[in-house]
Amino acid sequence: MLSTFVKRVCCLALVLCCLCTVASAQDKIRLVIIDGQNNHNWKATTPVLVKIFEDAGIFDVDVATTPEQGQDVSGFNVDFSKYDLVVMNYNGDRWNPEMEKSFVEFIVNGGGLLSYHAGNNAFASWPAYNEMIALGGWGGRNHDSGPYLYLDNDGKVVIDPVQPGPGGDHGPQWAFPIDVREPDHPIMKGLPKRFRHCTDELYQYQRGPAHNVTVLATAFAEPDHRGSNRNEPLILTVPYGKGRCVTNMLGHDADQLHSVDTIVLLQRCAEWAATGKVTIPVPEDFPGEDEPTFRSLD
Ligand code: ZN
Repeated sequence: MLSTFVKRVCCLALVLCCLCTVASAQDKIRLVIIDGQNNHNWKATTPVLVKIFEDAGIFDVDVATTPEQGQDVSGFNVDFSKYDLVVMNYNGDRWNPEMEKSFVEFIVNGGGLLSYHAGNNAFASWPAYNEMIALGGWGGRNHDSGPYLYLDNDGKVVIDPVQPGPGGDHGPQWAFPIDVREPDHPIMKGLPKRFRHCTDELYQYQRGPAHNVTVLATAFAEPDHRGSNRNEPLILTVPYGKGRCVTNMLGHDADQLHSVDTIVLLQRCAEWAATGKVTIPVPEDFPGEDEPTFRSLD
């Protein structure tokens, strides 16, 4: 009698377990990384990005690779209806008009965008994309692209539309501290107020439309490191239609993708852009103020 009861309980548990597994697979955030052209080493960084997102356990990850620079992109299309989130590891030729239109519709209708590092170097001539990233660099950007945006010593956002000059610059790489500016935002919640990033490029003098920007994190660009002497925004969010866009300028190459703050911030930015929430915890190995920390992703 007891053994029949136990068998039934076990059976029920097994069925429930299977149902849960199916549900969790269906509930995963569907993410596509777009790469294929970049002045950065996308062939090295995309596999690490895939590992970073898969390690979080909540993403189903696809990669869409465009034709090479200068090749015909008319046949390259991504079916955005299959995804919750687009991760831009791309800095290259404009997409075909139909794909650009469907991308804008995807974001307007509530899709997520995570622009990773040089993702905000892309598409200087595409107004909608620049609204989504808020601030960008290079690609011919200048005062016509929009104002500079930085934080003053009191932490107040300064938008400077007057000063002429190029958009986009960085000094030699160094291991700079990052300051959390919105500690209650889901992406930043629970992180140390200041933590040490790895040796990386500190983007400065970015320019763009800069509408409705929330600056989550900055770093002070030290003049000793050929910096702007400003608190430069490095992670920011922008609403676009019903969509959530995050620009995260960290992570120049695969080495920088092994620093724990880069990993955790990419995971959290991705989750928030897709869902508006963050469930990924702050790990034990997250860096403090003095030293960056690293993880093997093999
Ligand atoms: Zn770079």
